[in-house]
Amino acid sequence: MLYKELVDVYEKLISTSSKLEKRDILSDFFLQVPDEIMPFVTGLLAGYIFPKWTEKDLGIGPKLLLRVISKITGISEKKVEKYVYSSGDFGEGIEKAIEEKKQQTFFDVKIEISYLIDLFEKVAAYEGKGSQERKIKYLSELFSAASPREAKYLSRTILEQMRTGAAEGIILDAISKFSEIPKKDVEKAYLLTNDLGLVALYSKKGPKELSKLDIKVGRPLKPMLAQISSSIESTLEDLDEPEMEIKYDGARVQVHKSGDEIKIFSRRLENITEALPEVLSDLRNSLSPENIICEGEVVAYKDGKIAPFQYVLRRLRRKHQVQDISEKIPLKLFLFDCLLVENRSLIDLTLKERREFLISSVKESDIVKVAEKIESKDVTEIKDFYNKALSDGHEGIMVKDYLSHYQPGARGKKWVKLKRSLETLDLVIIGAEWGEGRRKDWLSSLLLGIRDDDGNFLTIGKVATGLSDELFTEITSQLTPLILEEKGKTVTIVPKIVVEVLYDEIQYSTKYESGFALRFPRVLRIRDDKSAYDSDTINRAYEIYDSQEKTF
Ligand code: AMP
Repeated sequence: MLYKELVDVYEKLISTSSKLEKRDILSDFFLQVPDEIMPFVTGLLAGYIFPKWTEKDLGIGPKLLLRVISKITGISEKKVEKYVYSSGDFGEGIEKAIEEKKQQTFFDVKIEISYLIDLFEKVAAYEGKGSQERKIKYLSELFSAASPREAKYLSRTILEQMRTGAAEGIILDAISKFSEIPKKDVEKAYLLTNDLGLVALYSKKGPKELSKLDIKVGRPLKPMLAQISSSIESTLEDLDEPEMEIKYDGARVQVHKSGDEIKIFSRRLENITEALPEVLSDLRNSLSPENIICEGEVVAYKDGKIAPFQYVLRRLRRKHQVQDISEKIPLKLFLFDCLLVENRSLIDLTLKERREFLISSVKESDIVKVAEKIESKDVTEIKDFYNKALSDGHEGIMVKDYLSHYQPGARGKKWVKLKRSLETLDLVIIGAEWGEGRRKDWLSSLLLGIRDDDGNFLTIGKVATGLSDELFTEITSQLTPLILEEKGKTVTIVPKIVVEVLYDEIQYSTKYESGFALRFPRVLRIRDDKSAYDSDTINRAYEIYDSQEKTF
């Protein structure tokens, strides 16, 4: 199958805003995709090259791509960059540069999808010294063969900026339609595997094959999430058998063990095993089953006391000299759930049963612990537990329905969080301004975006104060490689970095695209554990706005 056929589909998808039409376009196309390339093509339709959890990454950012395009077209990097800025889109800018070049030389090379698979695998495999040059070599070969139209979509894909509106939901609808398998079964398979490509392939094979897909050690599941509780009393009303756990202020991890191999995944399903050597080493002795998937929170300690969340992030970001930093910032892991033991999935069991599996599978050590919990319906007792959690330096408590099943990726009423802090929003930085004076090397005034249902980021406010020097430096270093456009002091940024923002109030406002503005926004921290697509949506802003209306 040719890449050109996929490009035709992208263009058809862009030409309609109707979700139903998009579904039909995808469904018709799925019927033509050969089995061997089905998983990869499905990923490309959804806008990614490798599923996050595979640990594979092309390692190509906007700057490197500009170098490739400049190299093969002979147009200076500055000029290609200008094309990108003036169109406001990387894909279109690159399309223009390639068009200019193709007027002079004409190649009639057809890009096969199987060739793309091979090439991306090779590019992703290069690491370390000399790898950039090799990546550039392969990409140059690819872009030299590409037509301007193909180059446009290839660059959007490589930079993960595909905006065809084919969100996960629409792809699942299309899979259900072409395979004639009910949507709920397709969705279930997706929740269990977290792999759209696999779901598309197995759906094509039929409902019986699809039903064989299950959770598997090594393939992380989207974690079950919690709702915010307004009060202990109202939360207790919703639950028959409540169980309270400490809400640890750290990073969520999912541990997958198969024999000698243990992998630790982050909430974003990235493999972070190497960043946690001491946790890994204790897990080897602590987990008795041969195969197990369990979940918990990694918490940092400083001078024997619980350290703020930022410390955990520092540990997770560190790829080199992990040993040094692990002595300075020791960690503990508090396990609170168990999703698989040996070859048995536990997600349809109750939390009570899962907890029993957890207890019998874990031998506690200095580092690996089972989360503290109480069972109670007594408000005073729960409030005492909550106050103690806070005074011990934790974030609050989680109230869970002891009889509930594990629902991957769901933020339902079965898990509820009680924390002291005001409501925060996880927003995406989409622009910034270079500072002045002492702040001249920092991107200081940050433009925040909130996600809508179609995956666009709408402005919701600016934040320039309340950040420590350390946070400004960190944000600047993370944002700089993502700069898309620079006009004077103002820069536009690829929506990637998520920050947790505290504010006094959400107000309606015509000043920003979202229709909302935040009163006194402050950046609390960078949410390295979230991707832009895990950030809060405009619906969340509506909810908070409504609940705030009730309280004020
Ligand atoms: P939030 O990030 O505020 O939506 O809260 C949910 C997060 O709390 C989870 O993703 C976990 O990282 C964290 N957490 C801390 N302690 C627990 C616990 N005992 N049970 C579940 N989640 C916990």
